[in-house]
Amino acid sequence: METKVWRVDPKSPDPEAINEAAEIIRKGGLIAFPTETVYGLGANALDETAVRKIFAAKERPAWDPLIVHICNLAMLEQLVEDAPEKFTELASRFMPGPLTVVMRKKAIVPDAVTAGLPTVAVRMPNHPVALALIEAAGVPIAAPSANKFGRPSPTTAEHVLHDLAGRIDGILDAGPTQVGVESTVVDLTKTPPVILRPGGVSKERLEEVLGEVIVASRPPSDVEAGLPSPGMMPRHYAPSVPVILADGNPSELLQVIERLKSQGYEPNQIGILMPEGWLTGEEGLVIFRWGRWSNWEEMAQRLFEGLRWLERQGVSVIVAPLPPPIGLGLAIRDRLTKAASTNSATNCQGNSR
Ligand code: AMP
Ligand code: MG
Repeated sequence: METKVWRVDPKSPDPEAINEAAEIIRKGGLIAFPTETVYGLGANALDETAVRKIFAAKERPAWDPLIVHICNLAMLEQLVEDAPEKFTELASRFMPGPLTVVMRKKAIVPDAVTAGLPTVAVRMPNHPVALALIEAAGVPIAAPSANKFGRPSPTTAEHVLHDLAGRIDGILDAGPTQVGVESTVVDLTKTPPVILRPGGVSKERLEEVLGEVIVASRPPSDVEAGLPSPGMMPRHYAPSVPVILADGNPSELLQVIERLKSQGYEPNQIGILMPEGWLTGEEGLVIFRWGRWSNWEEMAQRLFEGLRWLERQGVSVIVAPLPPPIGLGLAIRDRLTKAASTNSATNCQGNSR
């Protein structure tokens, strides 16, 4: 199939493009669209056949559930059995925004969306294009990130086309996304609530509303033992070359680089996600200027672009320093740790839940 590209203004998208894309969603097709976090690959969440096309296009295993995107709280009533009290305050603080809430689902939500779970993950994206598309489609839109399964998430339309051109009906291109890492997924069916995936809303900000929250522990290295939650596969967000992590300071980073050189890597085979002002004297390395260390928002925004850019330069290995688990640093750590994991996700298929 040919993938149609509509270039739209991120703040006030052309209604004609939105209506055309919305019509495709209503007819059961697939549209990639920008959100404030990353680009999503959307289908009508209430149309099981359409939802299955998402899994096929991404080569995503059926056990990994999708997030359902809504444009107002009225849409939520279709999807969830009475939302818990805590939800109201979360919604008033963070919706629209990079927060996904897991709640008990209604029967109308197809099993294909939730991977057979009794819960559904819902979010209201804070992006005029995403909101306009959902509104025009008139249905909730199920959308994972618009990348091939396991790859770094797309923060530009070019990233989406690199992975999915010819596999999806169209893409609304509104330029690079703002947050750059995915939404925080919080499970409100548990007490205290559990962060299943750290993301665009920090743990600290969630705690202001929820009190104590628990961050789900990393999956066991033996994935055959079963995952505590879907979407927690060890290797994910990974470029096609190995990612090596360094502790978060220049001298540790330098040590890793020296070790790689002693193993026979030439400097021009080594790609670095390099914080501003670090190791300025090192010659010949392939450098992606990541941003100011401790400005975790900026570094989150540029993380996936950095991984994909270094991959395109043809490096043999990518080295990244690991931020501390503060603010969006927690989400960056999560993505980098999974990108660096050598444990493949594909062994999880047999998990019973
Ligand atoms: P993505 O494909 O990047 O949009 O990620 C969607 C993620 O949301 C999944 O991989 C899960 O981690 C999480 N998720 C979605 N639905 C549920 C659910 N019902 N229960 C728990 N986690 C969910
Ligand atoms: Mg994803």
